[in-house]
Amino acid sequence: MDFDDSVKKLLFFVRSLRRFDDSMTEACFELNRNGKVKENVLGGNMTKFIATLALVLACVGQGSLAQAHGANDVEHKLCDFAPENDLRIPDGLERTGGITRAEYDLAIDRIERIYKGIVKQKGAELEINRLWTNTQVNANATRKGNKWIINAFGGLARYEHNTFDGEMMVLCHELGHHMGGFPKYPGMFGGSWASNEGQSDYFATMKCFRRVIENDDNISIVSKMDVPVEVSRGCQLGFQSAKEIAICKRSAMTGRVLAVLLYHLGRGSNTSSPVVTPDFDTPATTQVSATNDKHPQAQCRLDTYFAGAICGVSKDLEFSDREGVKGACNQEKGDAFGFRPRCWYKPANLRF
Ligand SMILES: [Zn+2]
Repeated sequence: MDFDDSVKKLLFFVRSLRRFDDSMTEACFELNRNGKVKENVLGGNMTKFIATLALVLACVGQGSLAQAHGANDVEHKLCDFAPENDLRIPDGLERTGGITRAEYDLAIDRIERIYKGIVKQKGAELEINRLWTNTQVNANATRKGNKWIINAFGGLARYEHNTFDGEMMVLCHELGHHMGGFPKYPGMFGGSWASNEGQSDYFATMKCFRRVIENDDNISIVSKMDVPVEVSRGCQLGFQSAKEIAICKRSAMTGRVLAVLLYHLGRGSNTSSPVVTPDFDTPATTQVSATNDKHPQAQCRLDTYFAGAICGVSKDLEFSDREGVKGACNQEKGDAFGFRPRCWYKPANLRF
């Protein structure tokens, strides 16, 4: 028997799986990267070969070998908050908006205080990297082994359209990639680890932001805001108590902060992009024929934030990883509002 050939065939099989599944990619990439298989086999040591074979089979069977081996050098898919952009905002520039370093740290502190424990219960570790001096106007989520990582770039915090609440909601969006459930970016076995963009926005207002701010004096906070009638009406439809209505209003208003931020960021020098700033009284009218996993337009993203804010389903009822009904408002079950908007989401059992 030619051991080298056998292992080559196995590796070929593993590599072919890599194209389809993220978790498989991580496991097998680590195997290849470390070169353990190659070294062992070429060394001609039977015991090592058998151990290596078991390792490869475990990789195929479990799909997450990197986690078992504490992989710490395997980069995963990066899930951005905003589409790629060229804007760079260095630290130390004179600014007219954005948030301070102290506010940026506090926003991250507040997310960590709530979610470190929740993520730990799921068997993972939340790591938010405070990249204040990084000039990128973005944030992203990625994984290394069992570390659920969020990279928070200072450029986004310094962007003139951002606010303290906006920064917290960006972090909620990134958390949404890690734990926002269905729908996810595609993978071989029904989905990768990452929830798609629209779902990460929906998670941001529906589960995360309302949890993070729930003990604030939201009634007082929203009393200082100029809340549009659409928001007041929507929040009164979704909730009964003044406290919940205030949380809903603050969530929706923060959603608009981000939608306007995204609008300006995306518009840049591109004068062919939409000229109407996203708002609550101009919801998107487009309907997708299949769910769009990528970043929707800013108006569509506002519609999603708003829907998540007014949906009356409890933040404690988690979304499912496999279907879109659990934990959400849905057209499938007859909800009249608060469901994922049709500008990016196609319900599984509805024909339009
Ligand atoms: Zn994203």
